[in-house]
Amino acid sequence: MPRSILPGDLNRREFLKTLGLTALAPTTMGFSSSSITKLPIVISTWSSGLKANPVAWNILQNDGWALDAVEAGVRVVEDDPEDMSVGYGGLPDRDGHVTLDACIMDHEGNCGAVAFLQHIRHPISVARRVMEKTPHVMLVGEGALRFALSEGFPKENLLTEKAREAYQRWLRDSHYKPSVRPTHDTIGLLAMDRQGRICGACTTSGLAFKMHGRVGDSPIIGAGLYVDNAIGAATATGHGEEMIRCAGSAMIVEQMRQGRSPQEACENLIKRLYDWRKNRLEGRQVCFIALNRQGQTGAFSLRPGFEYTLSTPEGGHRLINAPSLLDK
Ligand code: ASP
Repeated sequence: MPRSILPGDLNRREFLKTLGLTALAPTTMGFSSSSITKLPIVISTWSSGLKANPVAWNILQNDGWALDAVEAGVRVVEDDPEDMSVGYGGLPDRDGHVTLDACIMDHEGNCGAVAFLQHIRHPISVARRVMEKTPHVMLVGEGALRFALSEGFPKENLLTEKAREAYQRWLRDSHYKPSVRPTHDTIGLLAMDRQGRICGACTTSGLAFKMHGRVGDSPIIGAGLYVDNAIGAATATGHGEEMIRCAGSAMIVEQMRQGRSPQEACENLIKRLYDWRKNRLEGRQVCFIALNRQGQTGAFSLRPGFEYTLSTPEGGHRLINAPSLLDK
């Protein structure tokens, strides 16, 4: 059964209390370049944020740009061979190829993305080059690889021994059920720097053992990530097909534009998706985090188990369990 998610219900109030956000009422956090005192802010999906956020944070603490911070933060996870759902060490598709998706968006609406990219360890940095050096937003597959090589990114084998062994185990019965790993997934990272610029990045190896050529939400601007500096930003993790279907991250930003808090916007979108598709969401997970201009944050998932990492000046780097609509 869905849990109650009425705005202001107990779960939500308690949740906000655990975040210390009850103190961040809009009046005290209302934006003007001089009135924000609680910047910077970094929020990212899953516990991999505990590695990514401090790197982003160091850049922001030195008055750096949120775009540099989000890129540097997620690169740490792309580099980590132990993280089997992002970058180097990511689980392959069902043909044994590691294929990567990523996108990045800055405070002025500039964005770049790569999808179905192979052999390049840092798809987020290729996405940034697409944004900065081409007239396009997205490059895919062979074209993305060629562009990356022309930009000097080294060609590497991204399939680690650990990922290869997991693939071999999966091959024994090759049951085609692309899965989201329960505790480690795509990293989406949002940051607001001391100048109030909001930027975001999202990077993944996608669903484990997916069909060759499958692309999820993570490189799709509006689905896996969206930033509108006047309002806020959102990013996603979980079964990407669902986030694409509801244009999730853009919808959350739109709801914030209409006055909802980040928490209300995440809750409302997942509730709508559930009402719309409840018979088809068996075994699927859908998770969002969001940040608004006032420095408020939100996180919500369809099912329990989603956690995210929040970094604030007063709270340090904290791993927090997100509330969920369903109880299993
Ligand atoms: N959203 C990603 C995808 O569908 C997977 C994930 O978050 O783990 O490719």
